[in-house]
Amino acid sequence: MIDVIIAGGGPTGMMLAAELRLHGIRTVVLERDAEPTKVVRGLGLHARSLEILDQRGLLDRFVAEGTRHPLRGFFAGISKPTPDRIDTSQPYVLGLPQPIIDRLLEEHAAELGAEIRRGTELVGLDQDDDGVTAELADGTRLRSRYLVGCDGGRSTVRKLLGVGFPGEPSRTETLLGEMELDVPLEELTKVMTEVRKTQLRFGAVPLGDGLYRVGTPADGVAADPRIPPTFDEFTAQLVAVAGTDFGAHSPRWLSRFGDATRLADRYRSGRVFLAGDAAHVHPPTGGQGLGLGIQDSFNLGWKLAAAVQGWVPADLLDTYHAERHPVAAAVLDNTRAQMELMSLEPGAQAVRRLVAELMDFDEVSRYLTEKIIATTVRYDLGSEHDLVGRRLRDTELDRGRLYDLTHAGRGLLLDRTGELSIVGWTDRVDHVVDAAPELEVSGVLMRPDGHIAWVADDSEPLAGALTRWFGAPRD
Ligand SMILES: Cc1cc2nc3c(=O)[nH]c(=O)nc-3n(C[C@H](O)[C@H](O)[C@H](O)COP(=O)(O)OP(=O)(O)OC[C@H]3O[C@@H](n4cnc5c(N)ncnc54)[C@H](O)[C@@H]3O)c2cc1C
Repeated sequence: MIDVIIAGGGPTGMMLAAELRLHGIRTVVLERDAEPTKVVRGLGLHARSLEILDQRGLLDRFVAEGTRHPLRGFFAGISKPTPDRIDTSQPYVLGLPQPIIDRLLEEHAAELGAEIRRGTELVGLDQDDDGVTAELADGTRLRSRYLVGCDGGRSTVRKLLGVGFPGEPSRTETLLGEMELDVPLEELTKVMTEVRKTQLRFGAVPLGDGLYRVGTPADGVAADPRIPPTFDEFTAQLVAVAGTDFGAHSPRWLSRFGDATRLADRYRSGRVFLAGDAAHVHPPTGGQGLGLGIQDSFNLGWKLAAAVQGWVPADLLDTYHAERHPVAAAVLDNTRAQMELMSLEPGAQAVRRLVAELMDFDEVSRYLTEKIIATTVRYDLGSEHDLVGRRLRDTELDRGRLYDLTHAGRGLLLDRTGELSIVGWTDRVDHVVDAAPELEVSGVLMRPDGHIAWVADDSEPLAGALTRWFGAPRD
């Protein structure tokens, strides 16, 4: 039997497949599209996602294909100088078109042995005490122990489970595409500056050789946003909004996206889970969606692997919803706030000016920026110690970098004293004795997702934390 079926081979599904394969879990990814999409939605990755790639030894191959942009204080398009003391080893935005991100994650999952079946659509599912049966569009049935819906905002898995997706529907829609424009850049800039006084969703970014990424407000909201606009519809909208189509021709791809904001009310239903856009959708303001999905997978992967390998503590699988649902709720809220601040209504503009002034205070700018780069996420693990539940940032140890020790996706006990013990858990946890001065505490237990499960000066004994997160000791 397959251990885990992943429905959807976007970035969330591929990241999850790779995380499961690190633990030898038999993983099959079902991807509806026969070929990877050319549509460029996401344009880059923020610090926490970069840290995650670094934790698995993947960062160099992403950086090699991307462009590092300095991290500025930013929120709702308000840009300020880089705030002081941003707590990350990756203080930049990595510009990288989503198709490249998707390809690199797919290559990584395939290298680790994930079975990827393209042109394969999940259309039905059924679960019982022992496993899940997935029904494919060609009538084939596959059986697995667990199934994860990583199948995007219109998730079939979510609908089949009957999981609620409350929130706000799309009120506006934007047409997006890449095409050549026959217009001098100065003229384009002049028209764009004028149009953007009343239409912030209008814009054209030069990509080189006369090619542009063009976005324009649509006329209403399409009944099915999966159906791309025709080129005639696109150019007609350019004329309606900007008074000219800028001599547009040779489109490479066209798409549409809305501003719906919704959050699944359950991330788990028995043996079936939801992750990425299948669990949450929001406007792309701030570029957080793809990273949020990667971070879901990073949280879920080792827990599902533990369940398959049989060492899972009783409630570990439920911690996925408990930890990740509030994180997505907070992201939805920050995109709601950003959208309000980007409204051209006089009241909203006044609040925007006020927020821009407040962001001149370094603390405010850092607070808002860190929301978007996701480095301050703290899971409520029941401890009052400030470090517990936070991710441990990369640290220079005497033996090298901390994140270089985390590529295998195991638990890690960092021990400055040499007096701690993980006997009974050595098959699941590594013990690193290192007196690095950078560490603030004498011992830290790090989960495979980099979040801190225990620190030496908290009241809980180490054996209790090891049992809670890694199951009963074995001889
Ligand atoms: C304009 C725009 C700009 C954005 N910019 C950014 C950005 O800069 N940074 C950022 O982090 N995020 C950004 N995002 C968000 C990001 O694109 C998404 O959040 C991300 O793609 C979600 O990944 P996913 O794997 O969860 O879902 P998807 O990428 O949607 O992948 C889902 C996959 O499932 C497949 N599938 C669907 N149904 C089935 C089925 N029944 N069976 C099998 N396969 C199925 C689909 O073919 C698809 O490949 C942007 C989004 C938009 C629209």
